[in-house]
Amino acid sequence: MAKKKRQIRVEFRKKYESKTRDEADLTRRYQNSGNPEELDAPNRERVSGKGQWTRRRTITVDEVSGKSDANDKPQLGLDKESALQGLVLRVHGLESIVLDKQGRQYRCATRRLLKSMATDQRHIVVAGDQVHFRPEGENQGMILRVEPRRSELARSSRDRRHVFAANVDQLLIVTSAAEPGIKPNLIDRLLTTAEHSRVDACICINKCDLIDPATLQPLVGTYTQMGYRVLMLSAQENWNTGILRKLMQDRYTVVLGQSGVGKSSLLNVIEPGLKQRVQAVSSENDKGKHTTTTAEVFPLQNGGAMIDTPGVRQFQLWDISTEELASLYRDLRPFASRCHFPNCTHVHEKGCAVKDAVADYRLDVRRYESYVQMRDDPLGESSETVDEFDG
Ligand code: GDP
Ligand code: ZN
Repeated sequence: MAKKKRQIRVEFRKKYESKTRDEADLTRRYQNSGNPEELDAPNRERVSGKGQWTRRRTITVDEVSGKSDANDKPQLGLDKESALQGLVLRVHGLESIVLDKQGRQYRCATRRLLKSMATDQRHIVVAGDQVHFRPEGENQGMILRVEPRRSELARSSRDRRHVFAANVDQLLIVTSAAEPGIKPNLIDRLLTTAEHSRVDACICINKCDLIDPATLQPLVGTYTQMGYRVLMLSAQENWNTGILRKLMQDRYTVVLGQSGVGKSSLLNVIEPGLKQRVQAVSSENDKGKHTTTTAEVFPLQNGGAMIDTPGVRQFQLWDISTEELASLYRDLRPFASRCHFPNCTHVHEKGCAVKDAVADYRLDVRRYESYVQMRDDPLGESSETVDEFDG
């Protein structure tokens, strides 16, 4: 029997005004209370006569179920009654572990059509992705659609760009004031990654109980002047951990830093039990046959998530030209555009506004040296810190 159709009028502008903002908001809204239906635009729509400013549009819906026709957008092909929304917690080879809103986990394969759209440049499903999937059987499913990403983190490996986490809001760069001592060049390297990926960065200096915090003021000042947030913490003494907890709430945070700086100690203060959850997943991975995992999402009780990147020893900057590197140093950037030669490397040229700025103390000399070092060694291969660095 042919399904009965009827036409209804719905609000138009609401959805199409400031569309980019909407997408980010929807992702957030879903994190809190969202409804899978909210994300699906009716599939067959006709704007009625008044151009783009019309406030209502006509759509065709199924008389019985209230569902709209899905013929026009093969990308979607969603059956709203059976499709669920979920968050990709981690990806093992061809299988993604997806968390639905009820807290159930599903092992999902990815729909062929989506896979055929994947290229070397862009993995189709990665940790942090918001997806629509169709549950199949007990705890399995099929990913039908991946929502647009608000950010991507990538590393380079064998000359290819590998996206390993999506929708990250901020990098938490954890260092320690002592044991091991602070490594400003490593901070700089991770900051350029944040700039390149266009995600916020926060510098956390842990173990401040071991030093006189005043000794760090010059370094802290350099970073705060550039607009970075710097937190001086002690996981042991619980200093500033409330601020850190607040900072991570409702956001997707990647935590990075050398081993031994106190990342797990801090996380455990932020959310008791988080350390154990991270350890449980990593020992499961060690046992399992899939070892290609590169990022894992741990939702936080108060909203947001911590994204652990155990397989990523370092972020190797992908395909960055010299000019681009200077633009990733926030403090260097304004001078770089004033050099005599447009392609100035700021190392040996005459008429270099960057070197002039260093000479008369308008630019921090340590930051300049860190830039030169990174330029010579973009992958940080000669740096000792890399060996100890466990992402
Ligand atoms: P991770 O490898 O970065 O996860 O570091 P851990 O959290 O395992 O911490 C490494 C060592 O530093 C442990 O022995 C912790 O007890 C110690 N530690 C962590 N945070 C602090 C702190 O704020 N102050 C001091 N004094 N020690 C700390
Ligand atoms: Zn220059």
